[in-house]
Amino acid sequence: MDTTEITKEGFDTPSVSHTALLVIGSGAAGMSAAVAARRAAEHSGKSCSITVLERNACPGTKIRISGGGKCNVTHRGTPAELLEKGYLRPNEKRFLRSALYSFANTDLLDLLRSRDVETEERADGKVFPLSGDASSVVVAFEELLRESSVRQLFSSRVRSVERQGTQFLVTTAAGASLTADVVILATGGVSWSRTGTTGDGLAIARALGHSIKDSSAALAPLYTIKPPPATLSGVALRSVALIATAGGRSVDRRGDLLFTHRGFSGPVALSLSRDIGEFATLFGSVSLFADLFPEQSAAELEEKFLFQARKSGAQMVRKFLQSCPIAPLREALALAPHGTIPTALLPFIMRHAALENDVTWSGLVREKRMSLLAVLKHLPLGSVREVPLDQGEVSAGGVSLAEVNPKTMQSSIVPKLFLCGELLDYAGEIGGFNLQAAFSTGWMAGTHAIDS
Ligand SMILES: Cc1cc2nc3c(=O)[nH]c(=O)nc-3n(C[C@H](O)[C@H](O)[C@H](O)COP(=O)(O)OP(=O)(O)OC[C@H]3O[C@@H](n4cnc5c(N)ncnc54)[C@H](O)[C@@H]3O)c2cc1C
Repeated sequence: MDTTEITKEGFDTPSVSHTALLVIGSGAAGMSAAVAARRAAEHSGKSCSITVLERNACPGTKIRISGGGKCNVTHRGTPAELLEKGYLRPNEKRFLRSALYSFANTDLLDLLRSRDVETEERADGKVFPLSGDASSVVVAFEELLRESSVRQLFSSRVRSVERQGTQFLVTTAAGASLTADVVILATGGVSWSRTGTTGDGLAIARALGHSIKDSSAALAPLYTIKPPPATLSGVALRSVALIATAGGRSVDRRGDLLFTHRGFSGPVALSLSRDIGEFATLFGSVSLFADLFPEQSAAELEEKFLFQARKSGAQMVRKFLQSCPIAPLREALALAPHGTIPTALLPFIMRHAALENDVTWSGLVREKRMSLLAVLKHLPLGSVREVPLDQGEVSAGGVSLAEVNPKTMQSSIVPKLFLCGELLDYAGEIGGFNLQAAFSTGWMAGTHAIDS
């Protein structure tokens, strides 16, 4: 075999013709897998070569840009709490359970602390490096890999993996090849393709016999056919409900919503984007609405309006709406304060409800009141044009979870093949859940790869 090509592709690394364990991809899952593999080998007294092939010139490209460069590395809570909050689909929750219990957020934080990366918890449960620098997480893993004697070859893009007898034959895009006893595939998802995630691992897994669920957007912004008025771009609504309807079906979620120049973003839009993308595929057209008072029924809201009309008939309705909390008092006492309707949005609301801008409570006859209530509880936000896959913080879809053992991450189709990270058909919520899942599934794959 020609090992010189590997040397040429990599930096100043020596050539490799065979490795006991090969990890493909040096992101969160791949780095975690390699470190765990060395620890498992040491624990069982085995000496084995571990090699990582990464197509980029350096490891952890996506970690470096995560959390806006600050890296929301995980989330506060027990594994059960993380499973409940971070992974909404029951089959994905079930699949990730063992991995999140085996290598929990506390294990990840201990590992980082061992490399002097201290972290801080925010009020909303997100955990970040105290330094505010995502690259500190990558540097910590680079050090862990170095002390684990893991050989890393960069600028080495794997093109194919074939089973040959009891080994794997791995070929790079430059035509070099090496053999491996065990392979861990950790090539990530398909969004933000400029970071190196173009779906190579999915093609490799498919060629090895795995079923692949089509990739789709998740944690992505929503682009609408008619963008919101320019005056609303940048306006944020706190703790509203975003509702998507299509084909007689409807899905909704609570959270903060941001108007953008192309449509919508913010936590609630990102969180619902996966369902909306699926609706779009199934039904074509998806309509968006916001419930600006999700904590109150239309009847409760009407009661409030009638009370206000009796109390201050001369007050302009728009003035009242500007200062009326979106959530009722019991919510206002909660940790995160709830907002009011932003001033910039009021003309938009009044127009949709066909009300004069200066209408007062005493001028708000029943018909107008009903129209206002309907708009506040179901504000039309337009139809979705696109949920851009490449803009998603993660992509959904990937290697079928049914073909991977959730207790080891070993393939049930190909012996001695392990799969981990975003390559798998799961997608977590915003809040550090995706990095934690990648680190946890990677750790599990590395640990069990050594015993396989
Ligand atoms: C902008 C942005 C912000 C994010 N912020 C957060 C956040 O704050 N918190 C959070 O939890 N999650 C966040 N995520 C999601 C998180 O970064 C990913 O889910 C996670 O990094 C996935 O880890 P992974 O190891 O599975 O894949 P990746 O980190 O994508 O790593 C895969 C690696 O495989 C390499 N590779 C691919 N193909 C080949 C090949 N053929 N040969 C060799 N190498 C290959 C790639 O170059 C890449 O380095 C964010 C994502 C984005 C895009």
